[in-house]
Amino acid sequence: MNYTLTLHSPETHQFEITCRVDAPDPDGQRFSLPVWIPGSYMVREFARHIVDIRAATVSGKAVSLTKTDKATWQAAPCAEPLILTYRVYAWDLSVRAAHFDRQHAFFNASSVFLYAHGQENQPCRIDLQPPEHAADWQVATSLPGDGAAPFGFGAYLAADYAELLDHPVEMGRFVHLEFDVQGVPHHLMVTGCADFDHARVRRDLARICRVQMDLFGKPKLDAPYYFLLTAVDSGYGGLEHKNASALLCKRADLPAVGAREQGEPDSGYVRFLGLASHEYFHRWNVKRIRPKALLAPDWQAENYTRLLWFFEGVTSYYDDLCLLRADLIDEASYLDLLAKTISQVQQTPGRHVQSLAESSFDAWIKYYRPDENTPNAVISYYTKGALTALCLDLALRRKGRNLDDFMRGLWRDADKGVEETEIFARVAKLGGSALGRWLQNAVEGTDELPLARQLAHFGVKLIWQPENPRPWLGARLKHEGNKTRISHITAAGPAEQAGLAAGDVLVALQGNEVTPQTLDALLARLVVGQDVECHYFRHGTLASTKLTPVAPPADTARLKAVSGAKAKERRQSWLGTPTAPKAGLVPREKS
Ligand SMILES: [Zn+2]
Repeated sequence: MNYTLTLHSPETHQFEITCRVDAPDPDGQRFSLPVWIPGSYMVREFARHIVDIRAATVSGKAVSLTKTDKATWQAAPCAEPLILTYRVYAWDLSVRAAHFDRQHAFFNASSVFLYAHGQENQPCRIDLQPPEHAADWQVATSLPGDGAAPFGFGAYLAADYAELLDHPVEMGRFVHLEFDVQGVPHHLMVTGCADFDHARVRRDLARICRVQMDLFGKPKLDAPYYFLLTAVDSGYGGLEHKNASALLCKRADLPAVGAREQGEPDSGYVRFLGLASHEYFHRWNVKRIRPKALLAPDWQAENYTRLLWFFEGVTSYYDDLCLLRADLIDEASYLDLLAKTISQVQQTPGRHVQSLAESSFDAWIKYYRPDENTPNAVISYYTKGALTALCLDLALRRKGRNLDDFMRGLWRDADKGVEETEIFARVAKLGGSALGRWLQNAVEGTDELPLARQLAHFGVKLIWQPENPRPWLGARLKHEGNKTRISHITAAGPAEQAGLAAGDVLVALQGNEVTPQTLDALLARLVVGQDVECHYFRHGTLASTKLTPVAPPADTARLKAVSGAKAKERRQSWLGTPTAPKAGLVPREKS
């Protein structure tokens, strides 16, 4: 398979693509574009951005092309090599698709290169044509060159189509930082921001990578690794690949040159480091230790696994833990980050409704497609998965083992793919059958996790408190201009009982007008158990109801290191040697 990608017209945001098949199917060659991209479990219909697609023989004779479904084209039979020509509209500035303007071009192959049915196992050669509008652009990709100079335009080669999908490509002017970890070259390419502290970011990333390479040990991964980072005014995300990750962060999250390095790094920079740590951990956990269900994925449909809690949850547990192990944050900061995750889960009534296994299986239609009812019906396999991994790690530690041992065991046997029940069986083998049963129940059921008990054993006290001391209504509110609209109703809360619904616009409480300016003062006057009259618009019609505020739920966690030599010793056996003081940090979402 030979592809060319041309960057003619950045102002149209369109890539021009040709795809040549030397030995097309004699009965007529079929071509498709994947409907999803590995690592992001949602059907995204990338083919909707293909325009003006045509087919011809290599000698220039037109070949008819018939569209047979949303992502598939059927060419008429032809005996010569066949060439498809089409354009791809690339205006999605995320890590999952493609983007092209005068500043840069970025793509995942799943957005731009059709595959030829029956030829998915053929090597794929892509020829990246240099743009006419900018002579100084370079290329950043983990794909090996096939004649292209390092970081230059020209040809790159993938062993087959599945491999082609695993190498995002960035083209433009970027900051390029390099470092070695255990002798393996690592690259960070940053688009969209040049004036940050290069030396500090390079040093900190190198520390994270070293901690993780040490954790997994042998066999050592020796392919060069690429962090492809796009810095923007506002945005956040990451997507893992075998030898690369595509990252998106806020410019302000990168440390300024000359920023003070004493004490703890600020929360934005910690968020960026946590993202890089998360995607790098996937280098093992999901890209090489893989769910069996995703070993040979169907590119045209959802692919189901009940194991996303493991691949995303365990990765989420380790992403911040590795910042602590790399000495980039201290113990108190780590406990603050962990407390935020605990609070997020506790503030999600969906944890009583959906298990981690169900959340994993239904990611395609639930976690990735949130709506107003999501907090009541869905639990995140990232956050609750991370807390399950924490409880598992602590339980294993009480038996003289730990989650690192478990991950190394999986890594040693990584070729076969992980079966659905294999995790439980392996835990039983390492930590005893009772622990295996506990984990299966935790993953397949909705019981509360034994966080307080496990943390207490390791010298950390879990303290519950209300997020806000004010009486509670069980509704999340958002301002839209001068309107105050209900975005979510908490199941079984006062607002639900009063008949309010997501989408309602609050206009008055006790006859006093609700505006973004008055809302806080009105909420501050509420009294637990005392009815308030509430006027609201639903679909433009005025209505009223009686709301009865209740005491706020104690659903916000604080983690406190317990004093005393024994508590300290146990805590250190889990978290290592603590260092200097810290600052408040914020939680985050990641892919
Ligand atoms: Zn992830």
